Amino acid sequence: MAIVADKVTVNPDVKVGEVILDVKNLKKYFPVRRGFFASLKGGPNPVLKAVDGVSFKVRKGEIYGVVGESGCGKTTMARTLLKLTEPTDGEMWFEGTDIAKLGPAETKVLRRHMQMVFQDPYESMNPRLNVSYIVSEPLRIQNVAKDVDESLPRVLQCLEDVEMTPVEEYIGRFPHELSGGQRQRIAVARALALDPSFIVADEPVSMLDVSIRGEVLNLMQNLTREKGVTFVYITHDLATARHICDRIAVMYLGRIVEEGTADDIVNDSLHPYTQALINAVFVPDPNKKQLGQVLKGEVPNPINPPKGCRLHPRCPKFMDGICNVTEPELVEIRPGHRAACHLLKNK
Ligand code: SF4
Repeated sequence: MAIVADKVTVNPDVKVGEVILDVKNLKKYFPVRRGFFASLKGGPNPVLKAVDGVSFKVRKGEIYGVVGESGCGKTTMARTLLKLTEPTDGEMWFEGTDIAKLGPAETKVLRRHMQMVFQDPYESMNPRLNVSYIVSEPLRIQNVAKDVDESLPRVLQCLEDVEMTPVEEYIGRFPHELSGGQRQRIAVARALALDPSFIVADEPVSMLDVSIRGEVLNLMQNLTREKGVTFVYITHDLATARHICDRIAVMYLGRIVEEGTADDIVNDSLHPYTQALINAVFVPDPNKKQLGQVLKGEVPNPINPPKGCRLHPRCPKFMDGICNVTEPELVEIRPGHRAACHLLKNK
């Protein structure tokens, strides 16, 4: 049954495997302030193109990974999907509504269905509030419960869902009385409080000890399998993405350069950038041919991205006269496997 409030029509009956989020040509630009002398010269104000025309679909019940180096635009994209920052252009169809067009009141309604888990669990929690207050906060903001007491049954359920048991032991604790892994579980419990169908997790384990990262990632997997929650998992770490994601999109300088199943991306990648990432992350198998080479140089400035393919100044397979002239489009090379590279045109 559809839930209608203001202009928001959200259809929670989307079945597992059907498209829950359809992003079309999404852009997020930030104006850049010029210095005094630069502004005297006139001309248009420069813009930082953090996300520059990305299109992808997320299916219900999957974990969709977005992988890239820092500065590639993945966190800006995550925040834009949740409307924590307004898109500059493009469409974001979530369960039948283009949420890119929603105003503040409708966006508040949307929060019941879409939630976010932030990178730093300590930063995202008020240190003076205990677990009960923290987890119940969304219920009170959305007027689902009028106070902490009324929200208690739901809070206890959420703590059980994130395996913080026995719940009585944790309910009165403050953030500083929890380990990093426990704090991130509380952050997931808070995201679950309104029973959302869609959660964006922005680098949820990068601040955690390596030994406990697996616990939080497994928790996300369990929530997907048992409750059908859809996750977009934003990370710089291809190894963890391979571990939990069904499909992965690789981002470079504000664009998606490759997208496919986790297996396709890691074991059969097509794009030189993805191949370089894989070479940098995974221990080479002596029986396997190395796919690509290490990239040279630094990520270029997104205020002034390179003409043609954005990777061309760093790409070991650069072709003069093509790569530095025309930007390659993201096209389907094999069923379910898309890539943006001139080398792949006739594959
Ligand atoms: Fe490299 Fe050219 Fe492909 Fe870009 S289009 S990734 S520069 S080969």
